[in-house]
Amino acid sequence: MEEKHEEEIKEKTSLNFLERIIEDDLANGRVPDNTIVTRFPPEPNGYLHIGHIKSICLNFGLAQKYGGRCHLRLDDTNPEKEDMEYIDSIKEDIHWLGFDWGAYEYYASDYYQQLYEVALSLIKEGKAYVDSLSAEDMKMYRGTLTEPGKNSPDRDRSIEENLRLFDEMKQGKHPEGSYILRAKIDMSSPNINLRDPALYRIKFATHPRTGDTWCIYPMYDFTHPISDAIEGITHSICTLEFEDHRPAYDWATSIDHIDHAPHQYEFARLNINYLLMSKRRLLNLVKLGIVTGWDDPRMPTISGIRRRGYSPESMRDFISRIGVAKVEGVVDYSLMEFCVREDLNKRAERLMVVLDPLKVIIDNYPEDTIEYFEAVNNPESADSETHQIPFGRELYIEREDFMEEPAKGYHRLYPGNEIRLKYAYYITANSIVKDENGTIVEVHCTYDPLSRGGTTPDERKVKGTSHWVSATEGVTIEARLYDKLFLTEYPGGATGNYLDDLNPDSLVVVTDAKAEPEILNAKAGDYLQFIRNGYFCVDNKESKSDKLIFNRTVTLKDSWAKMKKKMGM
Ligand code: ATP
Ligand code: MG
Repeated sequence: MEEKHEEEIKEKTSLNFLERIIEDDLANGRVPDNTIVTRFPPEPNGYLHIGHIKSICLNFGLAQKYGGRCHLRLDDTNPEKEDMEYIDSIKEDIHWLGFDWGAYEYYASDYYQQLYEVALSLIKEGKAYVDSLSAEDMKMYRGTLTEPGKNSPDRDRSIEENLRLFDEMKQGKHPEGSYILRAKIDMSSPNINLRDPALYRIKFATHPRTGDTWCIYPMYDFTHPISDAIEGITHSICTLEFEDHRPAYDWATSIDHIDHAPHQYEFARLNINYLLMSKRRLLNLVKLGIVTGWDDPRMPTISGIRRRGYSPESMRDFISRIGVAKVEGVVDYSLMEFCVREDLNKRAERLMVVLDPLKVIIDNYPEDTIEYFEAVNNPESADSETHQIPFGRELYIEREDFMEEPAKGYHRLYPGNEIRLKYAYYITANSIVKDENGTIVEVHCTYDPLSRGGTTPDERKVKGTSHWVSATEGVTIEARLYDKLFLTEYPGGATGNYLDDLNPDSLVVVTDAKAEPEILNAKAGDYLQFIRNGYFCVDNKESKSDKLIFNRTVTLKDSWAKMKKKMGM
């Protein structure tokens, strides 16, 4: 008994505030049909970013947890900025994260007729009016946070005239900006969003879905709550910046013609240092050609991190670790990378790839002989498969794994020193060959045939182990090494212009990395670890059959784990 009670308490206290609200609503019969209905409502004016992942995980996650459903609603009320390309990418991204809206795919534009009828009713009831104030006047009449607004001279226009003007607006008889339809609420409300908010504006734009049917378009604060109501949304979850809009939301959902009144709840948006999290700014990076597109692996978009090799599992884990709260904060970039490494460590196939090749020739190894060593694909997995790695007389090792004059404490290869070649043999460096510029081009070594597999009969110890690739059997690949796109934690924090903080070295391209032939089996979507060099994936967009390209997802170094250790966590 006691134990069960404790379990229950533990479960309750570990709920986030939205889960507590939902459980309370369910327990008290406040949810129609006891079915939780949430929605994810992106505006299709750009690709989704990591911030959206939080909203997706929350909305779809809550629906899953409570056996309800989550709608996908494309909030397409800004025809000029919206595009089918964005709609397709949004769907792909949500599916990639592992969520599905099933049959519940909606478009705010599908409600244009209904919204129009609600607007007409409001006019007929004297609750909305057509205003001809200029944009500047409108601003002046609105008042400020500390001063009330003033009624527009058009506020008392007759119902008949309002109906006539609204109809003319709809028929395209008036230019953009000449008239708007406003709700008649209260110009002296302490909440500015209730000072006769705009309901409709004139826009001569072709809509991706409704074409030229409409030249008046409903505003967000009118469209969103009514769309929620039409769909029977029970819990409308959005970010904190909409808190001030909640009274407008409540106003719209309490209009007489709206049967169902959903509730809006706000949570803190996800911010991560070093990253820009705004579609508008990300679009700017694309337009300026600073990145190659929305799916550039340096972009914090879902399509960018997918191409970079982040796994959906790691991102869901990340979101669950940061939790849901009502207080804005900034999450550390290294926590996200920590989650990526944790997941990839469990699933990535290990390969030997040399990014900066230096030729090693084993003078006492027979010419024209290739032998094979067996490597476990993933030592972290108990039932891992294995693959064969070819070894021969000529190999590549990393240039940094050899020093002509070793620095103090250097344990890798240098003249006279013996090291282990991973999986293979012990070798000792004897002499070097330099080119006319003094660059080392060959290191001549001898190997100990008795050290096959990495141990010797006399159990001789060596301090260094290097990875290597056969010079004759290996393949040349291109490796793209990414770093953060911005150098500072808060891009633009000092100058106000995030472009001032761009990292000029955010992409380093290595065109002639050498890889063991097993790499030819790598497919798009495979997670790989290049031993010592990081996690990588195939770039399935630009790879060619004769030149595979690999994106570095993340390095192996883990600053978050180090930080936790330092803090004694
Ligand atoms: P942006 O500012 O990047 O354009 P947005 O809020 O305008 O984002 P929408 O398409 O309106 O983008 O967003 C869809 C949903 O995702 C909204 O409910 C919004 O609150 C949520 N969302 C957007 N950014 C974040 C974020 N950084 N963290 C959590 N949720 C977010
Ligand atoms: Mg928006």
